[in-house]
Amino acid sequence: MENNRIVDFSKTSLHDIYGENCFNDAIMRELLPKAVYKELKEVQQGNKELTLETANAVASAMKTWAVSKGATHFTHWFQPLNDLTAEKHDSFIAPTEDGKVILEFSGKELIKGESDASSFPSGGLRATFEARGYTAWDTTSPAFLMSDNTGVTLNIPTAFFSYTGESLDKKGPLLKSMNALDKSAVRLLRAIGNKTVKKVSASVGPEQEYFLVDRKYYDTRSDLVLCKRTLYGSMPGKGQELNSHYYGNIQLKVADFMRELNCELWRMGIPAKTQHNEVAPNQFEIAPIYSTVNVATDQNQLTMLILRKVAKRHGLAVLLNEKPFEGVNGSGKHNNWSLTTDDGTNLMDPGDDPKSNTQFLLFLCAFIKACDKYAGLLRFSASNAGNDYRLGGSEAPPAVISVYLGSELEEILEKLSKHEDITSAKVGKIQFGVNSLPTVLKDSTDRNRTSPMAFTGNKFEFRMVGSSASIAKPNTVINTIMAAVLDEFAAELEKSKKKSDTILKLVTDTYKAHKRVIFNGNGYSDEWKQEAERRGLPNITNNVDAIAEILKPEAIEVFEKMKVLTRQELEARYNIYLQVYSRQIKMEATVMLQMARKDIVPATLKYVHDVASTVNEVKESGVKCPLSREEEMIASIMDSVDKFMQTCLVLERELKNAHELTEPFEKACAYRDKVFATMKVLRSYGDALERVVGKTYWPFATYEDLLFNI
Ligand code: ADP
Ligand code: MG
Repeated sequence: MENNRIVDFSKTSLHDIYGENCFNDAIMRELLPKAVYKELKEVQQGNKELTLETANAVASAMKTWAVSKGATHFTHWFQPLNDLTAEKHDSFIAPTEDGKVILEFSGKELIKGESDASSFPSGGLRATFEARGYTAWDTTSPAFLMSDNTGVTLNIPTAFFSYTGESLDKKGPLLKSMNALDKSAVRLLRAIGNKTVKKVSASVGPEQEYFLVDRKYYDTRSDLVLCKRTLYGSMPGKGQELNSHYYGNIQLKVADFMRELNCELWRMGIPAKTQHNEVAPNQFEIAPIYSTVNVATDQNQLTMLILRKVAKRHGLAVLLNEKPFEGVNGSGKHNNWSLTTDDGTNLMDPGDDPKSNTQFLLFLCAFIKACDKYAGLLRFSASNAGNDYRLGGSEAPPAVISVYLGSELEEILEKLSKHEDITSAKVGKIQFGVNSLPTVLKDSTDRNRTSPMAFTGNKFEFRMVGSSASIAKPNTVINTIMAAVLDEFAAELEKSKKKSDTILKLVTDTYKAHKRVIFNGNGYSDEWKQEAERRGLPNITNNVDAIAEILKPEAIEVFEKMKVLTRQELEARYNIYLQVYSRQIKMEATVMLQMARKDIVPATLKYVHDVASTVNEVKESGVKCPLSREEEMIASIMDSVDKFMQTCLVLERELKNAHELTEPFEKACAYRDKVFATMKVLRSYGDALERVVGKTYWPFATYEDLLFNI
């Protein structure tokens, strides 16, 4: 429970608390009968179906463990399509005839949950007469305990789907994409002669950026409380120009917060590893050690929950929104992705053995092709309303998908494709082996922080993903498109008589056909925008257009072929994401209007009133002094207030117009082009007022309070 929050590590060993709230492999091995444990492992590997008998045994052990740690309730924990997590709690109690209770938790309850859940977006997949949704236990992600001030709940990670089996969440497709990737990668490995690897899975380490603000300032602003980003706000004299915050000393209050955060995460078995100050003032980052993608996804969702919870205890509020402040950097979630085999090889690692190097170049080229061919889907996978304000700004990756390889790798591929002698390639250390394919040093890449998809030595870092988003969506897309290309490569190789020639041909042909997506230069520069256009790379600047990508024929084809999402599920998702966008903008616009009328206008008028009264009093006193500047100031403020209020009327009208539209795409476009465009104008008047109205009159905390005070 909430007590013992602060652990004194001079007295308690980290070993003793690590994973104590997680029903992890070690606990299962200890508590489950040997045969049941073995059976469950097989199920986790995807080799066997779960039997009710095994489920009963696991449920019983889980209950005993959870109850011994104070749990009274359990919940199926799932991830609907809104980037949040959802839960419906049930207690373990079962009444007995003599008026008492026993605590029960059956295999059935573990495996499957049923909830009305009709308020979750289904995009038309559930008719109202069949509103039920089902949750199914994900055996591959460990159950965990969540505590509040007064009790403990056992959380079981689950997938959420409809009566007819369509996915209604982010986990279902992610698990399917993992399956597809596993199959295709193993197929390709077999085709190039690997007989030992049985399973391939994506490994992911998400770096989570966030802002912290003092809760007393946060609470003064309805935009932060309701929309999680500021809708008004004028930058003070100091921004992030001095870069004094980046990697700076972590101040005491934040250090205390981070320490408790780490403890909570470690107790959950989340391997929190790195933390530091980020570029913007009061911006920070936390990154765990990477794990299998669905575990990493669940752990990242939990990390976001725990960030919020711990911040609150420290009198802070955490902002996970992509662009909480205008004028300083936004927050992302760098998604580090690689491929791991069951024998521990990272297929994205160049390594130093020529054979595995051939393999590496093949997987590398598959990745390049996937990024080029399905750039629109990748862009979709990293888009939400919040990220629209971040991407393409001066600090975040541009909205164009490109891949950074580093000059060494590019040179190797370039020379290979021209059948040139690669011994002259300026690679740090190369060994020449089979088919003149070199061995590349692991650290063969420089750091390029401006690329949306950067090769960083043994993994790809997808930097476009927004800080508030679930990483399920981007990884589902990366897994799926990669699986599709690996499958194509495997098919080629299976037909081939001379494998080494075919590999070389695949590498060089793929590189030649898709090298337009490779860009090693400065992604923030204007030249790149023009160059990208010249190369014909798509530049999808906003969420609404990105959503449209999922109904393009090649998108439907790849998702259906890889058995990740059906056309019907994609259509539902298209509707849901458009609806989420429209609702988000609608909410923001409504809150802006409310703040304008209830806070900004009254505060400004009060200020004007006080200034005007002072002017009058001075006049009446008969003292001779110039008052023209004060009068000009009053006139100028009143002019701004008038424009501000007028824009409120325009925004109200645009909101009404957008609201009346029914076709989801048209509606989302209206919110983007009309409502949002007007919000920008309204904000500019509001911010201008903030700059002239007296500080003590301003009705909510300013950027100075939020960004420079904790
Ligand atoms: P950066 O220098 O990019 O800020 P960090 O140390 O903050 O690096 O984060 C790097 C992330 O990448 C960590 O979560 C780390 O576990 C993860 N990572 C490292 N190697 C791999 C890999 N092979 N596959 C996936 N993720 C990885
Ligand atoms: Mg980092």
